[in-house]
Amino acid sequence: MEIKETTGFIALYSSDITTVETVAKSLDYNLYCLQVAGKLTALARVIANTPPDILIVDLPGNTPEMEALVRLIESVSPMPPILVITSEDSKDLRQVPSLQVLDAGEIISKPVCPGKLAAGINSLMSAGKRAERRYEKPVASLKDKPLVLVVEDSPFQMKVILRYLEGEDMDIITAVDGHEALKLALERVPDLVLLDLVLPGMDGFEVCRRIKSTPATSGVPVIVITTSSEQEDKLNSLQYGADDFITKPVDRRELLLKTGNILKRNKQLAALASEASRDSLTGLYNRRYMEYALKREMMDAASSELPLSVIMLDVDHFKSYNDTNGHPAGDVVLKSLGKILTATLRQSDIITRYGGEEFLVILPRTGPEGVVRVMEKIRLAVEEYPFPNGESQPGGRLTVSLGAACFPEHASDAAKLVDLADKALYRAKREGRNCWRMAGETSEIK
Ligand code: GH3
Ligand code: MG
Ligand code: MG
Ligand code: MG
Repeated sequence: MEIKETTGFIALYSSDITTVETVAKSLDYNLYCLQVAGKLTALARVIANTPPDILIVDLPGNTPEMEALVRLIESVSPMPPILVITSEDSKDLRQVPSLQVLDAGEIISKPVCPGKLAAGINSLMSAGKRAERRYEKPVASLKDKPLVLVVEDSPFQMKVILRYLEGEDMDIITAVDGHEALKLALERVPDLVLLDLVLPGMDGFEVCRRIKSTPATSGVPVIVITTSSEQEDKLNSLQYGADDFITKPVDRRELLLKTGNILKRNKQLAALASEASRDSLTGLYNRRYMEYALKREMMDAASSELPLSVIMLDVDHFKSYNDTNGHPAGDVVLKSLGKILTATLRQSDIITRYGGEEFLVILPRTGPEGVVRVMEKIRLAVEEYPFPNGESQPGGRLTVSLGAACFPEHASDAAKLVDLADKALYRAKREGRNCWRMAGETSEIK
C-alpha cells in the first residue's frame, strides 16, 4: 500500500485495552497509521521496522518495566516525540520523576479524552516537522504570515484600508486609539504598524515614539498615515522614528507597494538574523546563540524548578587527525559529529558548535542522572561511527571526551555552568580521553 505523504506513523505502547481502543478511535486514518505493542519486545520490533513519528506510551506502573522502557526509547535515534498517557493524577505531572526521564512532549491523564489526544498528536506532529526543518536547513523557518496592526479611529477609513489589504498574504489586527494600539503592539509584536496620525487621546506621533522607544517593539516598522501632505507632518513623523508615510486619501497601489516593501525587508532581516546564529560548517547553532539560549533556558529552569544540564565535548587528538588526513577531512568529521549529536539527542536539546572542535549541548529538564546517560550515549555513538581513516588516530579510533555540569547542583549562573563543564572535560582528557566526567567529582566515576 502506498502511504500518503501526509501520513504519520504512530507507535502505541499499552496493554490496557481501554486506552488502546480510545487511541484507535481518536485517530484520523487518512493522516495516521497506528501500530500497537503490548510488550516491550513487540515495541522494539515495531520501532525497528519503522521509526515512528510519534510514540504514545501508556506509562507502566512498575519501576523495572519503566526502566527497560526508558532504555529502549533512548536507544532509538533520532528519539521520536513522546506522548505519555498516565493514571497519575498529580496536579503538576511534569514533576513526576518517571515523566521527566521520558521527556514527554505531551502528557494526558486517564481517562483519555479523544479530543485532547487528537490535539496532543497534532501538536507533536507539527513540532516534529518543525524540528526536522530546523536540521535540514541551517536557516530557521520564518514565520509564515506577517502580522500587520492597523491603527485608525475613523470607521470609514479603517474599512477602506482593510478592503485594500484584503487578499494580501498577511494577518491583520486593528486598534481605534493610541492606548489600544500600544497594548496590542506590546502583546503581539506585529511585523508592521499602519498608524493614523490624528487619533483621540494620544496622537500618532506619541504612539510612534513609544513603539520605537520600547525595547520589545523598537524594531517594529511604522508607516504613518497623514491627513495632509504637509511637509511638517512628514518631518515630524520621521523624527519620531516612522519608517515611511502615506498621504490620505489612501491610494491602494501606494499602500500595497509601501507595505510590501517593508514586509519584504523584514523577511530579509529575519533570514540574516537566523543565519547569524548558525555555524556555517555544521549548520548547528553558534556560540553567540548558545550564550543567549543558555541564559533563557536557565531562567526557564529556575522559574519552573526543573533541572538543566550542559555538556561540553571535544574531539580527542584532532590535531593529529588533521595532520594525517588534511584539514578538509577534519571538516568532514566535524560535520558528521553535528549529525551524530542531532541524531542522538532529544529534539528539545540545543546543540551548538562552541569553538573549533568543541561542541556544547544544553539539555533542558535533565539532571545529573540523565546527563550521565546522555554523555555515555554520545561517547559510544562517536566511538562506533565509521569515520574515514579513524584507525589513523592514536587510540585506533576517532573519539571524543565530555564534561557536564548541572543546574542547580553545580552552578546557578550560565557562565559558571559552562566553565565547570569545561573543567570536567579537561579532567576527562587528563584521565585518558574517550570518557566523560561530571562537575564536582574528583575521582573516576565511570
Ligand atoms: P586533545 O585530545 O587534547 O583535545 O587534542 P587535540 O589535538 O584535539 O587538541 P588541540 O586543541 O591541540 O587541537 C585542536 C585542533 O582542532 C587544532 C585545530 O587545527 C583543529 N581545528 C579547530 N577547528 C577546526 C576546523 O574548523 N576544521 C578542522 N579541520 N580542524 C579544526
Ligand atoms: Mg484619525
Ligand atoms: Mg579543543
Ligand atoms: Mg581536541
